[in-house]
Amino acid sequence: RVTVVGSANMDLVGLAEHLPRPGETVLGDDFVMTPGGKGANQAIAAARAGGATTFLGAIGSDSFGVTLGSRLAATGVDTTHLRTSYGSSGVAVIMVDRAGENSILVSPGANRTFLDLTEDELACVQGADVLLCQQEIPLATVSAALAAGRAAGTRTILNAAPARELPPGLLDQVDLLVVNETEARAISGGSASDLTALLPLVPRVVLTLSGDGSRYVDRDGRDEHVPAFRVDVADTTAAGDAFCGALAVAWAEGRELLDAVRWANAAGAVCVRKVGASNALPDRSEIEALYAG
Ligand code: ADP
Repeated sequence: RVTVVGSANMDLVGLAEHLPRPGETVLGDDFVMTPGGKGANQAIAAARAGGATTFLGAIGSDSFGVTLGSRLAATGVDTTHLRTSYGSSGVAVIMVDRAGENSILVSPGANRTFLDLTEDELACVQGADVLLCQQEIPLATVSAALAAGRAAGTRTILNAAPARELPPGLLDQVDLLVVNETEARAISGGSASDLTALLPLVPRVVLTLSGDGSRYVDRDGRDEHVPAFRVDVADTTAAGDAFCGALAVAWAEGRELLDAVRWANAAGAVCVRKVGASNALPDRSEIEALYAG
């Protein structure tokens, strides 16, 4: 079982010839509304990858919250303990121009109210094989979840995205850190290629390298490049979320970690073949098909 503790947002995506300048109104093209937020996306990714998945997070009392909750449930995510807090859901207002350039405003809404884990929420963390967290909710909540998981023998994964300054002690509760190059640099304060700077902080690190796959290092001295699956790229949105969700499922299933990373590479690669965000997250058969070659 995988428990994801994180954010849920509604992504409101508007397309236009050019991005509006301050004070300007632009008549745009298409508009798409899609469930998002790293937490919800990774929970959907894990469920689609075939894992029994529980999502802990907070949605608002607005219609976006209703849609987010039903979308998670429809994907097979256990939303029994999903909180509804009075007010707005998290919303990302995304504008994209013809060249693919974007401007994004994230309004955290209910995600900001996700504090002080309840007994039931802690039980979901403690009862999981793997706990998967990101950094789009209050870091005190991330810290508390990781500590509860660690104490109960749940394997803990932190996807340190988006990059933020971390409170002292948070990384002590992490069994496996997943970062891209920007996030690696934010934590080590040095270069992304020097992952050894991270090993004093966490016992295992996976660095995702987009079209180059990923790299795994640990305190036992392993340092392996895990090559990407070669695919035609349509849209790289949500590749990191597909990767993290699949990695959590594979590790929860007891796969050896390097093999789990390879399986997660396949999930990321299937995701980039499709246009879209949470709708592009692959299901287990698609991952298996690419993984098996
Ligand atoms: P993020 O979006 O978090 O920066 P990445 O872009 O590194 O994450 O993508 C996550 C994973 O998805 C990569 O480690 C890789 O396995 C897979 N992936 C991403 N882009 C490609 C690509 N162009 N071809 C094949 N696999 C890809």
